[in-house]
Amino acid sequence: MALLEVESIHVYYGNIEAVKGVSFTVEEGEIVTLIGGNGAGKTTTMRTISGVKAPKGGRIRFDGAPIGGMPSHEIVGLGISQSPEGRRIFPRMTVFENLEMGTYGRRAGKDKGRGVKQDIDRVFELFPRLHERRKQYGGTLSGGEQQMLAMGRALMARPRLLLLDEPSLGLAPKLIETIFQIVTEINEQGTTVLMVEQNAFGALKLAHRGYVLESGEIVLSDDADKLLVNPEVRKAYLGEE
Ligand code: ATP
Repeated sequence: MALLEVESIHVYYGNIEAVKGVSFTVEEGEIVTLIGGNGAGKTTTMRTISGVKAPKGGRIRFDGAPIGGMPSHEIVGLGISQSPEGRRIFPRMTVFENLEMGTYGRRAGKDKGRGVKQDIDRVFELFPRLHERRKQYGGTLSGGEQQMLAMGRALMARPRLLLLDEPSLGLAPKLIETIFQIVTEINEQGTTVLMVEQNAFGALKLAHRGYVLESGEIVLSDDADKLLVNPEVRKAYLGEE
């Protein structure tokens, strides 16, 4: 059984159907990426999994249990947390306080309040820059640092599945490399990752499998290394003739 099963979901903004019967799976331990151009429906798909949008049809199962249409705080509680596009950190809170906020939705139970310090230490190990900046306000960080903070905050919920929406957006190439390396590290430490990216090349290099979205539909899916050499993908998303 896959950790996440998305089956034929339809998602609307008013009358506009942004996601038109999308199906895919994420197995425990994988990095899966959804790639595609502007407006393909990537963010909408992520927001539907995290409970920000409700699907009009289809099913979403996490660890076998239906979660489609559940409120997002319950979904976080089950073990899915999202680092949203545009980061959405708290600008008037320090880095440290932002990270503490990430424990808010942590799975209920006996360890809910425990281990916060260890988790913050783990985030600081993954992102030494955040440790240097721990007393600074979120709003004073650079774009790359805010991206790190959003990812770190999502990790504080101890997710089984981490949703990353465009982690490379607006970052300089060197930083993109760092962020992608950290995604691999997070995955190697045991967290399953679903990542949406416009940077198809970077995303496919680190993912195990990928799905290509176009105008709200999945048009192609394969192992990431096969998608990387697929002529259609190379032409449409990797800038080759
Ligand atoms: P991008 O990388 O540009 O964010 P995307 O693949 O994530 O693209 P979505 O943001 O999911 O695409 O958008 C899918 C479709 O839904 C687009 O046609 C978009 O115009 C539309 N859409 C997205 N958000 C809204 C909204 N809040 N209200 C109305 N339409 C929306």
